[in-house]
Amino acid sequence: MEKYKVGILGATGTVGQRFVTLLENHPWFEIKVLAASKNSAGKTYGEAVKNRWILSAEVPQKYENMIVMDIEEDARKIVSEVDFVFCALGGEKDKIKKLEEMYAKLECPVISNNSANRMTPDVPMIIPEINAEHAKVIEYQRKRLGTKRGFIAVKSNCSIQCYVPALHPLLDLGIKNILVCTYQAISGAGKTFDTWPEMKDNIIPYISGEEEKSEVEPLKIWGSLEDGEIELNSDINITSQCIRVPVSEGHTAAVFVDFERKASCDEIIEKMTNFKGHEMSRDLPSSPNRFITYFEESDRPQIKTERNLERGMGISVGRLRKDTQYDIKFVCMSHNTVRGAAGGAVLLAEMLCREGYINK
Ligand code: NAP
Repeated sequence: MEKYKVGILGATGTVGQRFVTLLENHPWFEIKVLAASKNSAGKTYGEAVKNRWILSAEVPQKYENMIVMDIEEDARKIVSEVDFVFCALGGEKDKIKKLEEMYAKLECPVISNNSANRMTPDVPMIIPEINAEHAKVIEYQRKRLGTKRGFIAVKSNCSIQCYVPALHPLLDLGIKNILVCTYQAISGAGKTFDTWPEMKDNIIPYISGEEEKSEVEPLKIWGSLEDGEIELNSDINITSQCIRVPVSEGHTAAVFVDFERKASCDEIIEKMTNFKGHEMSRDLPSSPNRFITYFEESDRPQIKTERNLERGMGISVGRLRKDTQYDIKFVCMSHNTVRGAAGGAVLLAEMLCREGYINK
């Protein structure tokens, strides 16, 4: 099979590095372009990530000598060499929103990790197992942009990608109120313990913008397509606190939930573990065999034992029990730069390719 030609915008950062390693031997996708800011453009990829490579695996040899392109000045050249791009850019949101739209208008599909377009009503924000059908909004977005091929699709914030999957199979119980506290790894800020030594033996009780995203993004994921836009779910209330903890990779969440209809803990666990995911998300190269795994042991899920479950694409849940103020409470965890970032975006791109939204 001829592979899709892929570019990575922001290839030098934390998430960009994950894309590079995840796609090294991908059966459908072949990286043709690595691009970043002017600081990295013109260097080989090996030079550009020297002293900032965060992964335990080495820089893949086949990309080491690839010349990094400039996401702005080389945009036309980039789109002529690829079938679509992944966006892993950091930086100012207004600028990224314009850049992503520029690529889409150059007829290049953009699959983005960035938050700049997440709340744009005709941009689908997709966790493929949950709301793959939101891809239908792409035809309305293309009308607005005046494009035939180009569009933007995004994945959600990394923090919600452990608790929204765990809660989704429970929607038929009528979820009313959710209280969630997240414990987020430093790689979520694009950092390591070397680049952020203050995080050793420390907790920071604030992550800029994260609580707002954690409360509103699930409502778009659970929203519906109305008049060419994704309308937010208005039945569910969410409140959150997001805390940075001294962990390299893996976000944990402690969740409390109220339902309209009551169910036993065993029934709830069964609903979670039997959930197979949306049919459009199944049997793709990056699909996990098991989406949600429940751990009976009272000291699980733990970061070190569970974060790489299902190649980092699985959701781990444990400690589900009755609560005295809410109906139930539980703890869940997922890998923030795989499921929560690059891996989730690769799965989304695979789904969009198979469904015909992206063509070679
Ligand atoms: P990062 O490590 O800071 O990397 C940022 C990348 O963007 C680098 O390639 C950088 O290029 C490029 N860049 C930064 N400012 C730019 C500018 N003004 N113009 C052009 N290129 C620019 O960030 P990250 O942690 O990988 O995150 C990337 C995006 O994914 C962010 O929007 C983040 O919110 C989102 N995200 C991250 C995670 C996570 O777990 N880390 C999870 C979900 C979503 P140079 O190297 O050339 O400067």
